[in-house]
Amino acid sequence: MYDLHTHSTASDGAFSPSELVERASAAGITSLALTDHDTTQGLAEARAAASIRGITLVPGVEISASWRGHTVHIVGLHVDDGHSALQQGLLGLQAVREERAIEMGMRLARAGFHDPLGAARSLAGDGMITRTHFARYIVESGRAKSMQAVFRHFLKPGKPGYVPTEWARLEEAIDWIRQAGGAAVLAHPQRYKISGQIRRCLAGEFKEAGGAAIEVIAGTSHPPDVSANAELARRFGLAASVGTDFHSPAHSWLKLGALPPLPADLLPVWEVW
Ligand code: AMP
Ligand code: MN
Ligand code: MN
Ligand code: MN
Repeated sequence: MYDLHTHSTASDGAFSPSELVERASAAGITSLALTDHDTTQGLAEARAAASIRGITLVPGVEISASWRGHTVHIVGLHVDDGHSALQQGLLGLQAVREERAIEMGMRLARAGFHDPLGAARSLAGDGMITRTHFARYIVESGRAKSMQAVFRHFLKPGKPGYVPTEWARLEEAIDWIRQAGGAAVLAHPQRYKISGQIRRCLAGEFKEAGGAAIEVIAGTSHPPDVSANAELARRFGLAASVGTDFHSPAHSWLKLGALPPLPADLLPVWEVW
């Protein structure tokens, strides 16, 4: 069983890369991609753990990209994480994350939180600093009941802690992944707050720019989403990927390993990388 989209403490996942591999293996996954946000730092540890466990570790990354003013996520699978074009690109995004976190900290401090940047940094440790870390701190502070509520009240566009951010351009993200020998996957298409028509434009431009696959089964996929994603794959001749987007057991995402099969007529992404 494949799970081609997961997170570790190298970004906003709850488990270290080796803990994640352990749990994936126990859940029956035989090919696991670790796809942390804008970093490949966790891959070395994940590789070592996977080789001990006897499962296949697919080196991956989830790149933050901007497209027509929307943030979209491009997963790179089967990448050579030593490739300089990819690492140079990720370095730029890491600097963007750092600047954004400082600005987010200032905005949340104005909204009455005590040292939000310090708190988020200590939760992030050596990993990428993300909105998830700010959100965990806000839940701990008692000012919101759930992660969902934090995002709704503080961290979504237009809310006090939201910082509009220019990530990589769609074409750049795809290009870094391809230069590193990987397959670019349009992540969780149903999560973007865009109309069906704009979603088709996105999938078309993604394909045009060298994208290889679309996440047909994504963490939050309900059957109608799976059908809609499969339609996009057929329409634009994209292969199909499958991933839980696992972060932690507390998330409402699908549990690690609990994934339905891909529609039989689609070409699985692992046949094109
Ligand atoms: P960032 O890339 O720093 O903007 O953080 C985005 C991350 O926040 C996503 O990858 C999710 O893990 C998390 N996230 C986004 N929206 C929500 C939500 N409504 N509830 C919980 N986590 C969320
Ligand atoms: Mn995340
Ligand atoms: Mn994502
Ligand atoms: Mn993800």
